Amino acid sequence: MTTSAFPPGQPEPGTAETAAVTTGRRTAYLVALVILPVLTLAVAVPALWGWGIGPHDAVIAVVMYLVSVFGIAVGYHRHFTHRAFKCRRPLRIALMLAGGMALEGPVTLWAAEHRRHHKYADRAGDPHSPWRYGDSGPALLRGMAHAHVGWFYTARHRSVRQHWVPDLLADPDVRRFDSAYPAVAALSFLLPAAAGGLWTMSWTGVWTALFWGGLVRYAVVHHVTWSVNSVAHTFGERPFTTRDRSSNVRWVAFLTLGEGWHNWHHVEPTCARHGVLKGQMDPSARLIRWLERAGWAYGVRWPDPGHLAARRVEAGRGAPTARPPGQRARNGERDDVRRDDPRT
Ligand SMILES: [Zn+2]
Ligand SMILES: [Zn+2]
Repeated sequence: MTTSAFPPGQPEPGTAETAAVTTGRRTAYLVALVILPVLTLAVAVPALWGWGIGPHDAVIAVVMYLVSVFGIAVGYHRHFTHRAFKCRRPLRIALMLAGGMALEGPVTLWAAEHRRHHKYADRAGDPHSPWRYGDSGPALLRGMAHAHVGWFYTARHRSVRQHWVPDLLADPDVRRFDSAYPAVAALSFLLPAAAGGLWTMSWTGVWTALFWGGLVRYAVVHHVTWSVNSVAHTFGERPFTTRDRSSNVRWVAFLTLGEGWHNWHHVEPTCARHGVLKGQMDPSARLIRWLERAGWAYGVRWPDPGHLAARRVEAGRGAPTARPPGQRARNGERDDVRRDDPRT
């Protein structure tokens, strides 16, 4: 039986939070965010099967992947959208540029959609909930496709930046970055191509690095990032009490450098660490800690052990714990919660 919070066919409300988006823009999203990456991957698989990938291209692609994904996770997401930490201006600009390499749009656009996602997570108003069409098998499949890529084209309303990200629009650096976004997008392809050419001193090196480090890398980065919206709101464990269906998925966390520990993130979106339980590797949190130690990042919001324990779901009962925030766990309890101080 379908128990959707999203009655089928219900139009998104046209409030000050959202505004209609033109067909031209929706088509541009369709080409850049849906069709081109799929086509690239369709070419990449037989290419990999037939000729493999050379060591130069593999290194360039991995470096570009790490820059893009860290740029999204640490920059666009944790710093710009959720203000999980403050940082010096050069680092803020570097994070913005790194996030831009992922080709997921200007930071204000990304942050506006994402802040709306948090406000309405898995309810009407969420731009990309996999539960939009209900929780029966076919409805969920359709919902996952919608959450993964479908919404880029089907959404008739987009988040209004003036409403969602006035803090970012007030920053001249952010405004400059937004207006220079086409150049940043071009750089995302020019950098790997130049690296390939200079490293191998050949035109072949330019083209193969452009293919693997530019096109294939951007396609993979996109699908990895979108998996947080589709997979990490559908499958996986939910050790914390939230009003949405955010969950933890290990392989998504591995590929997104920590973003797949999505359940705690919806409990405390401003927290710099997403993987808060034992065994949950969060390379993005680790990078923020290094930046903090170097004095580049400050005012970092690390998880509060009391809040963490208070929001745990009791095993088998599906209810939140009764322990108030700040109260320490007794010996033997919560041995799956990380005991390390993230600042040490
Ligand atoms: Zn989410
Ligand atoms: Zn978030």
